[in-house]
Amino acid sequence: MSSKRFAEVIVEVKSSGVDRPFHYEVPEAMRDRVHIGTRVLVPFGPRRLEGYIVGLAEAADVTKTKAILEVLDDEPPLTPDLVELASWLSERYLCTRAASVQALLPSGMRAKASTKLQLVDEPPAVTPGSLEAELLHTLQESPNRTKEQLIAEHPRWRSILREWTAKGILKESYQVKQGAQMKTVVYLTCAVQGESFQSALAELGRAKKQKEVLAYLFDQGEPVLMKAVLSELNASTATLKPLVEKGYVQKELREVLRDPYGIEHGRLEQPLPLTPLQRSAYDQIAAAVASEKPETFLLHGVTGSGKTEVYLQAIASCVQQGRQAIMLVPEISLTPQMVERFKKRFGDAVAVMHSRLSAGEKFDEWRRIRQGDVTIVVGARSAIFAPFRSIGLMIIDEEHEASYKQDDHPKYLAREVAMYRGRQHGATVVLGSATPALETRWWAHQGQIGLLEMSDRVLGQNLPKVRVVDMRNELQEGNRSMFSSSLKQGIEKRLEKGEQIILFLNRRGFATFVLCRSCGYVARCRECEIPLTYHKARGLEQLRCHYCGYAERMPHVCPDCGGDHVRHFGTGTQRVEEELNRVFTGVNVIRMDVDTTSGKGSHADLLQRFRNREAQILLGTQMIAKGLDFPNVTLVGVISADTSLFVPDFRAAERTFQLLTQVAGRAGRHQLPGEVIVQSYNPQHYAVQFAKQQDYDRFFQHEIRVRYGVHNPPFCELTAFTSVNVNEDESLRIARKLEERLRNAFGGREDVTLLGTSPAPLSRLQGKYRFNVVLKYGRFKQVAEQIRSVYQELAQEAQKAGGYLSIDVNAQMIL
Ligand code: ADP
Ligand code: ZN
Repeated sequence: MSSKRFAEVIVEVKSSGVDRPFHYEVPEAMRDRVHIGTRVLVPFGPRRLEGYIVGLAEAADVTKTKAILEVLDDEPPLTPDLVELASWLSERYLCTRAASVQALLPSGMRAKASTKLQLVDEPPAVTPGSLEAELLHTLQESPNRTKEQLIAEHPRWRSILREWTAKGILKESYQVKQGAQMKTVVYLTCAVQGESFQSALAELGRAKKQKEVLAYLFDQGEPVLMKAVLSELNASTATLKPLVEKGYVQKELREVLRDPYGIEHGRLEQPLPLTPLQRSAYDQIAAAVASEKPETFLLHGVTGSGKTEVYLQAIASCVQQGRQAIMLVPEISLTPQMVERFKKRFGDAVAVMHSRLSAGEKFDEWRRIRQGDVTIVVGARSAIFAPFRSIGLMIIDEEHEASYKQDDHPKYLAREVAMYRGRQHGATVVLGSATPALETRWWAHQGQIGLLEMSDRVLGQNLPKVRVVDMRNELQEGNRSMFSSSLKQGIEKRLEKGEQIILFLNRRGFATFVLCRSCGYVARCRECEIPLTYHKARGLEQLRCHYCGYAERMPHVCPDCGGDHVRHFGTGTQRVEEELNRVFTGVNVIRMDVDTTSGKGSHADLLQRFRNREAQILLGTQMIAKGLDFPNVTLVGVISADTSLFVPDFRAAERTFQLLTQVAGRAGRHQLPGEVIVQSYNPQHYAVQFAKQQDYDRFFQHEIRVRYGVHNPPFCELTAFTSVNVNEDESLRIARKLEERLRNAFGGREDVTLLGTSPAPLSRLQGKYRFNVVLKYGRFKQVAEQIRSVYQELAQEAQKAGGYLSIDVNAQMIL
């Protein structure tokens, strides 16, 4: 096809200087195999790099083009709409197109190109014992060693290899290895029938086990999984070998897709009859899906209002119409129970995508989606890129969650990607939450997106009562413990009745800093300058930095004043656990934080143990705040609401409100009534007060005025730049220069506000100094061009200065 003479290729290099497609010639023989989205191997300067075809043309507007070396795919991994999405991503989030394309593919997909070497001529004459002789020996002994491997082992072989290739002694060819391999299994079939089966048995004579295997396969009459045969008959591969060699049994390799959950779903579960509120929400979503017009809804439903059932039935209706659906949930709530719920409803039609899968598992799930083997994907953030052909519905549950913003390039926000894909596919987007992001609720309020409300709990239970305890009074009354008397009594009551309790701490050891009571010295990380956290394990007292991992021993003498009044303060999960064991003798506590859940599967194990009532108390950080559903929990305690309230971020009040509401939603979801106790030193704060009343609407009314007053989102959008450098002066210089350039670009514009250079909240991280510049503006489209050109210039300058400049468009958290 003549229209495929030239290809535009995005080459996989990080530098923003080469962030544009390059033209390559497509050799005649490859023209049938290249499509938009196909991966190719191309020469790029002295290197060979992987790239993606983003365009095909009859003519190239450049005079000299090199030819494509290799076509890497038979089926292009990227569909044309994904190629389009990639360029939108780089425009929206100002990152390279290579980074965008990479984000769309599972990590296992990335191929590694290597060079195979072959000796062609008579081996060269070499001096025994020389480097050349060694190399020649290696080449002859292990011909599969790649050039890259050889050079990695012996860098000095590089020049000899070059010389021999030039002389024609060695021939190079490229081979490409997929990062993740397809997994195969062996099947066995009996290859002898009737008469020949009888004579085979006879010939095997006294080889009893072999005869048994052969007869078994004969009886089965169809290919059987080798592993199953061997375990069924308690035979070994040694028994099998002669049977295969004699041709009695045939071996066959079959490709399988790994199934990370392997849930036996048996009979599929039926949908529940919907309540009137659920029905109304469902009807509107289903109608939008059927219309095939892009539409977005906020599904604002209190905890326990039955949002999941609405999701499930809306997905079913989408699939019935022959289209596909994407369901996003926060990584942390993607528990086996959650996945099971989908598998039970939809069986094999579901693929699961999350970060704990191995590269191979991810690759397989991705292929199942790409090949059309499944119609539904349930996954964390990146599942929004699922390569479906015709998407009808995308649902984002707990849409306000901060984890829906990617923190590396492309720094996308899942709901924005969903809305873009919605326009591409004519698909419906549902943003579900009990505590929507202020922006989302504002758009619904303004009528820019649809609003579906479910204000009652399905099972008619009342929302739990929330009590706020003023911890300042406790101290005045002489209670120096971390448990107020109400919380203490509440726990005792539950323990007596055999009911369960969840205790919530806002961050792992957040407040457990170390302070000298004589001089006020606080132990800080030498690299990051943030307070170190006290840890105690097996009697060893340590201080650790939560950002860089730095650790030191707990000092017993103050490094500043030499006094011996150094103490650790505050309440980390470990300290609460110790305290619980001290105050409530014989109580069983399960602690869940980053320390106890780092192993694969341990998160789910701990929850299962709590579900089995192996412990009365579940104590944890954020990770227990959402998505969990325990029938026997009747008390939820928040040890301190203050820790999240005083983060230097304008969203702190919103986050605190969301957290407290969600935690409260954990209690009393079932027959037993629930109670929530929130402890705080700032009980009068509006975020705490409205959370106590579980009143989202009034919180919204209050907070939206605050945002309007100081001109923060949703009344503008905000892009943050961070200059990072080991050298403080250089870091500051780049930030200042950026500020000046931005001021020149936007000076006098009413829709733009510049917040000048300031030390970042994490002013020093891993030994590097960080300064922020923040830009507020009305519409991104009206500032994008200027931002891009200023950013590119300064990013290069920052690199030359040995640091870097990062950009976060529509930043959700500025650190
Ligand atoms: P949400 O996600 O809105 O917090 P869930 O989806 O977890 O609420 O539902 C709360 C509880 O109500 C669950 O136990 C669920 O099985 C149950 N439920 C939901 N819809 C129905 C229904 N239509 N009939 C009966 N039970 C329902
Ligand atoms: Zn540190």
